Amino acid sequence: MSFSGERKRSSPCSGGVVAYVGLGSNLNGPVDQVTCALDELGEIPDSCCFACSRLYSSKPMGSLDQPDYVNAVAGLSTRLEAYALLEHLQRIEAVHGRIRQEHWGPRTLDLDLLLYGEQVIDTATLKVPHPGLHLRAFVLYPLREIAPAALHVPGRGILNRLVEQCPEPGPALSLLGNGRG
Ligand code: AMP
Repeated sequence: MSFSGERKRSSPCSGGVVAYVGLGSNLNGPVDQVTCALDELGEIPDSCCFACSRLYSSKPMGSLDQPDYVNAVAGLSTRLEAYALLEHLQRIEAVHGRIRQEHWGPRTLDLDLLLYGEQVIDTATLKVPHPGLHLRAFVLYPLREIAPAALHVPGRGILNRLVEQCPEPGPALSLLGNGRG
C-alpha cells in the first residue's frame, strides 16, 4: 500500500512556533470526531492550522477488545506557549466528551502535542516530543505526509529515518479513503 500523498498543506503562518498534534478516536463516530477536531484545531487563538494529514485506521495498542482507531496529524503555527496550547487541546477533548478511563482504553478523542518546535519539555503535565512519537506508525506516517522529511525530532533524529526504522505497519495501519475529501 502507498502512503504517499497529503490532505491539506499550506505555508506555516508567519511568526509562530510550528507544532504538530496527533489525533485519535475510536468511539462515537470516530471519523466525525477527528474531522470535527481538525476544524476546532484551526480555531485555537493565536494559531493557524497549516496542514492536516489524511485519516488513517489503526489497530488499538492496548486491549484488542475495542474498536479500531481513526488517526490523523495536524500542523499548527502558534504564538501560544506549549502549556497554553496543551490547555486548548484538553478543552477540545472535553468538548468531545473525553472521559479518562483505562490507560490505552477506548476514547472519543485523544489529542497529543507531538512536537513544539525543537523544544524539549519533560514535566509531569507535558512531555515533548511526545514519548510515543518515534515508535508509533499511526503517528509517523501521517506526520510524514505534512512535515518536512528532514524534520528533526529532538532526541530521536530525522523524521524520514524514524519512519524507515518503524516496523512495517502492514494490516495494523491503513488509509481511510480521502478522509473528508
Ligand atoms: P493521555 O491519556 O495519553 O491522553 O494522557 C493525558 C495526560 O498526558 C494529560 O494529563 C497530559 O497532561 C499528559 N501529557 C504529557 N505530555 C503530553 C503531550 N505531549 N500531549 C498531550 N498530553 C500530554
